[in-house]
Amino acid sequence: MATVIVPKSGIMAIDPYVGGRSSLPGRDEAVKLSSNENPFGASPYAVDAYRIAAQNLHRYPPSDHHALRTAIGDLHALEPDRIICGAGSDEIIGLLCHAYAGPGDEVLHTEHGFLMYRISALASGATPIAVRESHRVTDVDALLDACSRRTRLVFIANPNNPTGTMIDDGELSRLVNGMPRNAMLVLDGAYAEYVNGFDGGAGLARSHDRVFMTRTFSKLYGLGGLRVGWGYGHRDVIDVLGRIRAPFNLGTGQLAAAEAALRDREFAGKCVEENTRWREWLAGALATEGIPSDRSHANFILARFADAEEADACNARLNDNGLIVRKVGNYGLPECLRITVGNETSCRRVAETVRAFRKDRQ
Ligand SMILES: *Cc1c(COP(=O)(O)O)cnc(C)c1O
Repeated sequence: MATVIVPKSGIMAIDPYVGGRSSLPGRDEAVKLSSNENPFGASPYAVDAYRIAAQNLHRYPPSDHHALRTAIGDLHALEPDRIICGAGSDEIIGLLCHAYAGPGDEVLHTEHGFLMYRISALASGATPIAVRESHRVTDVDALLDACSRRTRLVFIANPNNPTGTMIDDGELSRLVNGMPRNAMLVLDGAYAEYVNGFDGGAGLARSHDRVFMTRTFSKLYGLGGLRVGWGYGHRDVIDVLGRIRAPFNLGTGQLAAAEAALRDREFAGKCVEENTRWREWLAGALATEGIPSDRSHANFILARFADAEEADACNARLNDNGLIVRKVGNYGLPECLRITVGNETSCRRVAETVRAFRKDRQ
């Protein structure tokens, strides 16, 4: 590809990230189930906080994110000075790669892992390595086998996107303890809030210097449009990342809304409950139609069809009925569709559409 001047190596190997579609041609209203967004939106307190922040748009935001880090620390019982906030966890992932991985270094991620790991590794000039999973589940032995002197970062989303599967604390410990000393394990807990009793890897990050956890406000808290995420790790790592992040990476409205969202436990609790209920219902309904999915721990399910042709045909039928889900061929899963768990009405519409689709094909 022609470029004005030649960019750093690795950049042109990046396939730009494409977000989930949000509209269908010729349709005013479509239900978007393609980006794992919260069907209930954000907490009304977050919306209020954002509106109030609008009165001070001429002021620079705080650069130390003190209030938000304190609120996060209070809720999760974590030390605020071991927390860094970013424009989505995407920014934190980028900072980690930028700070720790460059030319000649390897960044490991799982076969069907979140695409941003590969993109950020390449953007830093490092070499991303996709490590095979075992039936769509993170395989600790395969990851340990893939580690070498060159490995700097190992990214795992737990639960993973787009598979929805996760590995337990025992497996995570086995991974940390088996990794070489030159590498850091990054646990991406974007969906941790949906798993009852799971700390997203916070405990492991507290007790192991070379474990880092990332989290986001984009999923359970319904603030994907705002871009707020955070990371927790060793003070030295926070110090390193703090040197390269832009001082004003988060605006006043982002900080205020995220803090208010975090404090609204009732809303968050209700969203988790609804998600669990309708996720199980939807998975059951699709299974009845002969469309299995692995047990999901997140706010989506990965529906498995007979082959890519059937998945594409069902996707087209869903679109015809005003439903947008995610094709995941670029995650190496062309025979699957990732379906965000919407509200009751959306879940019923998805199930009904799939039922009719299957009936017509018999
Ligand atoms: C959605 C998602 C994120 C969140 O990204 P943000 O930049 O915080 O919006 C991070 N990791 C995974 C695995 C995700 O699916």
